[in-house]
Amino acid sequence: MGVITKKIKGTEDVLPKQSYRWQFVENIMREEAANFGFKEIRTPVFEHTELFARGVGQTTDVVQKEMYTFDTKGGESVTLRPEGTAGAARAILEHSLTNEGLPIKAYYLTSCYRYEKPQAGRLREFHQFGIEEYGTSSPIADAEVISLANSIFKRLQIKDLHLEINSIGCPECRAKYNEALKEYFSQYKDKLCGNCLNRLERNPMRLIDCKVPSCHEIAEGAPSILDYLCDECTEHFEQVKKYLEASKIEYKINPTIVRGLDYYTKTVFEFVSDAIGSQGTVCGGGRYDGLIEELGGQHLPSLGYAMGIERLLMVMENQGIEIPAPEPCALYIAALGEDAQFKAYELVNTIRLSGLPAEGDVVGRGLRAQMKYADKIGARFSMVLGENELNENKAKVKNMITGEQTELNLDESFAVKFASLHMAAKFDTANLDNKG
Ligand code: ATP
Ligand code: MG
Repeated sequence: MGVITKKIKGTEDVLPKQSYRWQFVENIMREEAANFGFKEIRTPVFEHTELFARGVGQTTDVVQKEMYTFDTKGGESVTLRPEGTAGAARAILEHSLTNEGLPIKAYYLTSCYRYEKPQAGRLREFHQFGIEEYGTSSPIADAEVISLANSIFKRLQIKDLHLEINSIGCPECRAKYNEALKEYFSQYKDKLCGNCLNRLERNPMRLIDCKVPSCHEIAEGAPSILDYLCDECTEHFEQVKKYLEASKIEYKINPTIVRGLDYYTKTVFEFVSDAIGSQGTVCGGGRYDGLIEELGGQHLPSLGYAMGIERLLMVMENQGIEIPAPEPCALYIAALGEDAQFKAYELVNTIRLSGLPAEGDVVGRGLRAQMKYADKIGARFSMVLGENELNENKAKVKNMITGEQTELNLDESFAVKFASLHMAAKFDTANLDNKG
């Protein structure tokens, strides 16, 4: 029998064998976010298309080429979220959270959708952890959110990620810079890709971000935004650097970072890895002081970033960083005969109620196959129930690593006795592991 269809190109399944890797990373993200005072926000997977057109920016690759946009049966145009910020900003405004005290600090863990060419580290459905902070123009906030990302990488023991920062100024300095860029790129009109030619007039800063190699080469000689910053933006950038230094976070200034989304102002940054090839940017973000206004709210300086979870996991795998495997089954109870199976079922439930993972046969297999299964799932202890054990109301619990057997009464004391046996065994293995 053939499976009727396969997964959509550019999407990935996370199978039960691998999901613990995701959960480990996600848990650390949640914990660190909480440490820094951020609470989770969950917004719908789709939004009215205009939200992204306005929020992300008409001239961006994301809006021009990458969105999954479709008409609903009711004739509305909706889009699967290509990123998390626009939806979060919309929700903040819609629920008037700005009245509840500033700054508003939120994080999300979510799937995103972009119609891109699938390759290593570039998917059509991918996942992001993101940080949103609304209502602060202080450079301390810039350093703090970067510090949060840094803490996550540290706890994940990732080594080779380096932080690159830049400032792309405010609309005032940007206007002068854009003029300089237009002048510079106009010399190369015959060599630019069609997309860049289109954007040259409307949004010349996008050209610095173009991934076409020949454009990229030209962009390397382009004027630097840092030479065009106004006094306020220069001072802001200086303060961000000072606070990063106070956080003991190393950084490199990279004037070619402009970020792919239109809403950025002032600080922009990326954490880049050399370990995973050309899709090396694991985390990117910055300030978007104009976003909330763009979406119809008041002027509300804000900032944030997103990290790609798939890319993060790739870096970790590449660096051989071990992710602790989930707690295996504590006790597998094998049973021979109908009465024993009933008793095993009761005992498995008692162990689970006591808070330890336990399993018994649910397939109707013979004893030998049951034991094979116990081995396969890596159960720490096993126990066999047959007629004798039922008659005597006792059974031997076997440590699957050492082979040691301990007899336990099958009465009310069973769960407690087993729990202390399990705890002692765990302690022993931990000690063995430490001794190498
Ligand atoms: P890139 O330059 O690699 O296309 P981007 O600037 O489009 O990235 P952002 O929109 O800033 O990326 O998204 C933040 C992070 O999300 C990226 O740094 C990356 O880790 C991840 N990401 C973005 N697009 C994809 C994708 N198609 N597949 C997997 N991860 C992605
Ligand atoms: Mg992109």
